[in-house]
Amino acid sequence: MMKCEHKSCGAAEKVWLPYEVDGAERGFKPHSYCIHCGTIKNISSGSDKPKGIGYYINVLSEMGKYPGKKRFTKVQMRLIVKELEDMGDFCDTYWVTGSAQDRMFIIAVQKYCKISEGFIKFFL
Ligand SMILES: [Zn+2]
Repeated sequence: MMKCEHKSCGAAEKVWLPYEVDGAERGFKPHSYCIHCGTIKNISSGSDKPKGIGYYINVLSEMGKYPGKKRFTKVQMRLIVKELEDMGDFCDTYWVTGSAQDRMFIIAVQKYCKISEGFIKFFL
């Protein structure tokens, strides 16, 4: 998949779309969109703001340090990080939401390790 170097439209071209805060609709707000591919820019705030991959690498190392049985090896951790980097959507902070990233992170972790969703969510 070709990665788009998104470029937002001008202020005058913004489109009015529903705006959500933590899943609850909060009326309409002007959204920018990419003039190349038409993707609508995510303007979420708070917990739904997209996070950099560094945040998730940190979550992995916190999970690894948690006392108890060993949950994954260094090799597995590298595979998970690579999986996340390969998901174009995960790193596309133009439109992705924090909650969508969390879901993709859980899928990537569970692809390589037997770790329950509840345990992963505890660290997110
Ligand atoms: Zn674009």
